[in-house]
Amino acid sequence: MTMKIGLCGVCEGEHRTLQDGTLRKHNTPDGAPCPGSRRNPAAILPLTFRRWLTTQANRHGHGRDLYIGRLARAAQLYGDDWTTTEDLADAMGAAGVNPNAALVRYLTEAADEYKTVLESARQT
Ligand SMILES: [Zn+2]
Repeated sequence: MTMKIGLCGVCEGEHRTLQDGTLRKHNTPDGAPCPGSRRNPAAILPLTFRRWLTTQANRHGHGRDLYIGRLARAAQLYGDDWTTTEDLADAMGAAGVNPNAALVRYLTEAADEYKTVLESARQT
């Protein structure tokens, strides 16, 4: 299934769309359920690494789920002035994050999976 990210016309957040084209259930920035949930997005946004990674923050578990979920949650600390894996690595480095083996692994796993997402988006 191709991933699409839509702009919510109510909260102006970026959220995944469901198969019927509506926005998945989400909250407004203050934590209340957003009335834009399950409604059509105001726009479909071009897929970028940042947009994709932002949608992965609820992943938990083991292996790739753990790495990508952790990276997605950590990435929220570095604003949104980055769109690629390289930009994110630079933003984290500029903030003083040590590019240790774990971080490199997280970034590599995320970059690999995002490449797969892009390839499947191109085929449809
Ligand atoms: Zn919303």
